[in-house]
Amino acid sequence: MFLTVHAASGLVIGKYVDSSILAFLFGFISHLLLDMVPGHDPIELKKWKKPFVYKNVIIVFFIELPLILTMLLLLNLFNKLIISWPMFWAVSGALAMDFLWGLYFLTKWKFLKIFSIVNHWSHEVFSDKLYVSWKIWLPMQLFVLAVLLFIYLL
Ligand SMILES: [Zn+2]
Repeated sequence: MFLTVHAASGLVIGKYVDSSILAFLFGFISHLLLDMVPGHDPIELKKWKKPFVYKNVIIVFFIELPLILTMLLLLNLFNKLIISWPMFWAVSGALAMDFLWGLYFLTKWKFLKIFSIVNHWSHEVFSDKLYVSWKIWLPMQLFVLAVLLFIYLL
């Protein structure tokens, strides 16, 4: 799943969980669960002939983080952004995984290897076995994003 969807699940958790530790933990678990849903497109991504690191840096820093910031700014603009420690930790927990395994990929620091293994495992359970075109996963991710934001705003 895209980081933006993970961030939205963090928002939901941060709203309904009062403890920072639990919020982080649930955020982290929610990441693994969401990544099991077929939400990306290994074949089409491979056609984009750029090194793996570049692709991910471009996607994360030029698409995802601006989208997340826009989402948070819009929520703030409409006075809907809850600012609290559990919220901070829930969103951090929901996003942490991709930065941890990304950092492992870049640095090869051994203590981070576990995150790379778990991340690959969570993708392999269902999603990598199932080829879905972007015509399916894009609307699906947008739908999950909309549902999460709806729950958050309830
Ligand atoms: Zn992930």
